[in-house]
Amino acid sequence: MRREPFGPTGVAVPVVGQGTWNMERDGRAAAVAALRAGLDLGMTHIDTAEMYGSGRVEELVGEAIAGRREQVFLVSKVLPQNASRAGVLRACEASLRRLRTDRLDCYLLHWPGRHPLADTIAAFEQLRREGKVRAWGVSNFGVEEMERAAAIAGAERIACDQVLYHLEERTIEHAVIPWCVARGIAVVGYSPFGSGRFPGPRSRGGRVLAEIAAAHGATARQVALAFLVRAPGLFTIPKAGRAAHVAENAGAGDLALSAEDVRRIDAAFPRGRWRGLPML
Ligand code: NAP
Repeated sequence: MRREPFGPTGVAVPVVGQGTWNMERDGRAAAVAALRAGLDLGMTHIDTAEMYGSGRVEELVGEAIAGRREQVFLVSKVLPQNASRAGVLRACEASLRRLRTDRLDCYLLHWPGRHPLADTIAAFEQLRREGKVRAWGVSNFGVEEMERAAAIAGAERIACDQVLYHLEERTIEHAVIPWCVARGIAVVGYSPFGSGRFPGPRSRGGRVLAEIAAAHGATARQVALAFLVRAPGLFTIPKAGRAAHVAENAGAGDLALSAEDVRRIDAAFPRGRWRGLPML
């Protein structure tokens, strides 16, 4: 599993991690087993949020990482409505309790909201000083919002921007990726399989993925994940509640595409025009 420095934290984080949205629906035992299998395969970046299952997903992540916290790069998110200065501190304590840990590796604002960003960042910095979070970042921030955050805190304080990124949604390539990469901020792409809408094998793009996959002894989904992490600074966090899916996704962590592969995928799934920052 290839690892890359996670933005200014410098921590070597696997380029393919594990998402957890809707995991409460998989059943507790299956979800915990899937996450542990992922850890065994090197997918030690686990992405969760207080929002997911209204806290139930953090609880099952806590169960999955019990006894192996040191291995994990643990990320959670505060909801925008809780992102006042006092609200962030309260939300973080609650997340830590559910996750059964004393620290997060990275704490994110889930999306921009009505509380002043300066207050949210002041709380993040307080948590960092107290050792409750090692780093903090944002999610669903476009370049203007990133500029605002950088003006408040300094770009070197922002560990990552977690944004929607899959083959049929490449909008972040226009501005968010270049802005972040230029400043050494990690870009974490979410919903890499389109949140369940992966191109079918008979579609034009699906056929291109299948051909490239066959040449590498890989699968179409592995090729897609490898494309999404094709440059330094890019990370992806597929969600898989089934062991077979977990194993397949982990297999993408060492798949290197050729320049010709990348060119063909680029042509089959065009980037399209800038249409504003998309989010789920
Ligand atoms: P996704 O990862 O694009 O797709 C998940 C779906 O793909 C699940 O139905 C899963 O099935 C299936 N799947 C996974 N691996 C597979 C494989 N190898 N073969 C076939 N099917 C496979 O969707 P997502 O959950 O929306 O996004 C991933 C993560 O990003 C989330 O879980 C969350 O952590 C994060 N996220 C963040 C935001 C944000 O606003 N920051 C928004 C959305 C998502 P099974 O579960 O049955 O295996």
